[in-house]
Amino acid sequence: MNLATTPEYQAQFEQDLNDILYQVEHYYPNLDEAKKDKIKRAYWFAEKAHQNQSRFSGEPYFIHLVAATKILLQIQPDLETICACLLHDVIEDTPVTPDEIERRFGKRIRFLCEGVEKITKVRLQGKERELESLRKLFVAMAKDVRVIFIKLADRIHNLSTLDHVPPEKRTRIARESLQIYVPVADRLGIHEFKTQMEDLCFKNLNPEEYEMLSNQIKQSKKVREKFINAAEKEIRKLLTKAEVEFVTVGGRDKNLYSVSEKLKKKNCNHVSEIHDLLGLRVIVNEHSDCYRVLGLIHSHWKPMPGRFKDYIAVPKANGYQSLHTTVLGLAQSKVPTEIQIRTKAMHLDAEYGPAAHWAYKQTSNARFDEDYLEKTSWIPEDLAEITQIKSSEHFFRSISESLSAKRIHVLTPKGDVKNLPAHSTPIDFAYAIHTDIGNQCFGAKVNGIIKPLNHELSAGDVVDIMTKAGRVPNPEWLKFVKSASARHKIQASINSHTKEDEKPLDNSPRVKTQIRTTPLGAAPVREAGFNSDHSIIIGNESGLGHHFPKCCSPLPHQEIVAYNTRGRDFVIHQKDCKILAKLEDERKLEAQVVMQKKFTITAKDRVGLMRDYSAILSERDIFIWDVKFKKPKNETLIGTFTVHIPDSKTFREAMQALQGVDNVKEVQVI
Ligand code: MN
Repeated sequence: MNLATTPEYQAQFEQDLNDILYQVEHYYPNLDEAKKDKIKRAYWFAEKAHQNQSRFSGEPYFIHLVAATKILLQIQPDLETICACLLHDVIEDTPVTPDEIERRFGKRIRFLCEGVEKITKVRLQGKERELESLRKLFVAMAKDVRVIFIKLADRIHNLSTLDHVPPEKRTRIARESLQIYVPVADRLGIHEFKTQMEDLCFKNLNPEEYEMLSNQIKQSKKVREKFINAAEKEIRKLLTKAEVEFVTVGGRDKNLYSVSEKLKKKNCNHVSEIHDLLGLRVIVNEHSDCYRVLGLIHSHWKPMPGRFKDYIAVPKANGYQSLHTTVLGLAQSKVPTEIQIRTKAMHLDAEYGPAAHWAYKQTSNARFDEDYLEKTSWIPEDLAEITQIKSSEHFFRSISESLSAKRIHVLTPKGDVKNLPAHSTPIDFAYAIHTDIGNQCFGAKVNGIIKPLNHELSAGDVVDIMTKAGRVPNPEWLKFVKSASARHKIQASINSHTKEDEKPLDNSPRVKTQIRTTPLGAAPVREAGFNSDHSIIIGNESGLGHHFPKCCSPLPHQEIVAYNTRGRDFVIHQKDCKILAKLEDERKLEAQVVMQKKFTITAKDRVGLMRDYSAILSERDIFIWDVKFKKPKNETLIGTFTVHIPDSKTFREAMQALQGVDNVKEVQVI
């Protein structure tokens, strides 16, 4: 008798279907009988199709489809994605044909099923193949990102049931997941899927280490919980007193994989040695409340300098938004505690990706499926082009850029449309037409008027690129190009011209060139030496003791590296210093020169004040390194900012703009 048809399994499958429908109803607006019926049909069709198959565990194969669909529901997909997830293995594993799927469930569900099947055939074998797999994956994704949603859910379930799988296959699946699917989930911003996969891969690849670490974490759990409870209480009390409405204040756990990565990075053996296991998250209703909460927290506990990050004003590449800060003294702790502050919408977005967020925003909309499709079809048109890029670093940068940035359409004089990231320049446009056009570009007319090459294009502009044979790209272009493909092509061209032992990649005549390092069109400016505004950031810290060596004396605009002299202080070398090259790599630290300024803003407190400050600063590329608030009188709020500035003029402008913010009484540079 067939396993899948035993009364026990039939009863379980009935129950599972009810669970699925219940979960969908929870987020899907107006799920009517016809829609429910479609899910039911897909469900029983798949159940029947897989009836003769079983998993490595001996259980009926269909349980995999049920489990994968339940995982998928976490990101609140549309109807077609749900049905296609239930049906995703039918074509590969059963006699059912794609045509039959189309007849029964429609063209798009067929497309999704075939898409998943194609990706499934992608196997990781050796280095070169790896990138090839990635490309295929993204070509599929370029057509419909929902294929990837299904594949991720499928992969998570497979990873969680590897116990019964032969060891060799097990390792392969885990490695492949870590190298391909984890970064994909990350770039799509589906944090929940990313961390689930990381831990499952870790468990399968390093079972002993995983076991050890999870035991360590279990043992220290009591201490952690006690602290988190006390800290939560303190923050709740503070917010209630200030009458800030919040959704939740809670502790958050790091996933095991990232704990293990952290241990390795810091050379530690035990979880008790790393401190940022302890983290808190405050979730509020309104955007502006985030900054109010931040202000309150900073005025009660000492913030650690350099740890404040405003991902609301400047979101991460994958769209992640939140405020991060690390404070000392929370619940009498001697250890710094990281606090994340975000709205409910930002939270959903961060955990389950943009798709879930859209669903959340549109719960009252009856056109859920249409909107979902529209909202996920933004996966950029030029993904196919990006998949040609050879190095994976550039590749991921391109992907993330394409996923997060707004796009504009710009036209050639003949009316061909090029799709570019917002704020693109004529150089981006030139490379979008052809690599040679980009490389040989020397000028551009925008709507008939000559404009500088770093001119910011607007949607609908008609751009005419002027070229001259034999020209080579200017490295300065790298500073303003917006599209990853242009950046990549410029870099490639520069590399081919600078490496003496390499032939140029194309047939163009070999041009000997000196790389220009002065800004385009400007006279060479020699930076003055260091002054009191300059500050050197070593690793992630400022204010560390350092001095300059005799072998090279870097100027403020040059790239630098800090060298740790046996615990005394740091020596700051030029990055290309010959002496530095001979020193021990382990003791070299990343460093950069920044222009640092400090100022205070005194204002009558109001909602949205910090958000306004932050917007003015980030608009001008001024980076908030540290911020502290004081409330000497009831209504007065004094913020002390330490910022990194691009140049003094921009800084002066920002100071003036801050002066104009509502309720601001005084801005004072200190
Ligand atoms: Mn599957």
